[in-house]
Amino acid sequence: MSTLHIDPGDRRGDYPLMNLADSTALITGAAGGIGRAAALRFAAAGAAVHLVDRDAGALSRVEAEVRDTGAAVSSTVADVTEPSEVAGFVQDARRHRGRIDAFFNNAGIEGPVADLAEYPIEGFDRVMAVNARGVFLGLRHVLPVMLAQGGGAIVNTGSLASERGLPGSGAYNASKHAVLGLTRTAAAEVARDNVRVNAVLPGMIDTRMLRSLAFELSGDVEAGLRFMGSVAPQARTGDADEVAAVVIFLCSDDASFVNGVGWPVDGGALATMPNSST
Ligand code: NAD
Repeated sequence: MSTLHIDPGDRRGDYPLMNLADSTALITGAAGGIGRAAALRFAAAGAAVHLVDRDAGALSRVEAEVRDTGAAVSSTVADVTEPSEVAGFVQDARRHRGRIDAFFNNAGIEGPVADLAEYPIEGFDRVMAVNARGVFLGLRHVLPVMLAQGGGAIVNTGSLASERGLPGSGAYNASKHAVLGLTRTAAAEVARDNVRVNAVLPGMIDTRMLRSLAFELSGDVEAGLRFMGSVAPQARTGDADEVAAVVIFLCSDDASFVNGVGWPVDGGALATMPNSST
């Protein structure tokens, strides 16, 4: 695997630019808030990227944005719940980029908001299909590639909901607990093969998904965002790029002894939320 490092002399904006030159990254959910931010971060750090999303129009816009930075980029329109489409995008990534050094297994949906006593059954199945089965299928198809090439790093996208109950979002909650379970199991299975598997646990991050939940909560997006931001000690919502920065770090060799963890990026929310899971 290529050597990845932070060069403290090489700064872009107000953050150190991680150097991922000569490495490759595969990103799912790349047309959305956090996936797009990660694509731009990986590209800025010198990686060649392969982007995946089911939204063809949004994906081609993000691909163009990444290409404008001068980075090598390719993409596949695919649904992460379909085994043949997952096999297809992994094959495309290898064809275009040669290797898969980093895999950001990120696509997800929020699903319906309802208490479990009334939760729509099809809604539960759909959320589990994208968020849990989709993450499993990503691991199922990328791990053999990384094992064969002799190493790699994977980051799955969990959530605060990986660690706490979330009234009104039972399916999302179950699916994000599953993501953390898959992360821990995968990390243990491949640790001796030079493959690391971690999860990032975003808090309230200002993307389409959070805006949709904010509207459901209060009927007023800005008021809903202010309320959701207030659950964190830092008393604000996060930016997708603040999650992307941690994803890049976890994929880099600077995180060489970080394995099997769920890393919160939440302005301190988990540090203070009542703990219902232990
Ligand atoms: P988003 O809706 O902006 O992006 C999600 C992307 O995933 C979209 O581009 C969508 O088209 C894609 N996608 C959805 N289903 C897919 C499928 N079946 N196949 C392929 N692509 C699919 O939301 P986001 O906030 O950027 O979410 C990214 C990840 O972060 C999700 O896993 C989400 O659960 C997680 N997350 C978000 C927050 C937050 O506050 N925004 C908090 C915790 C976790």
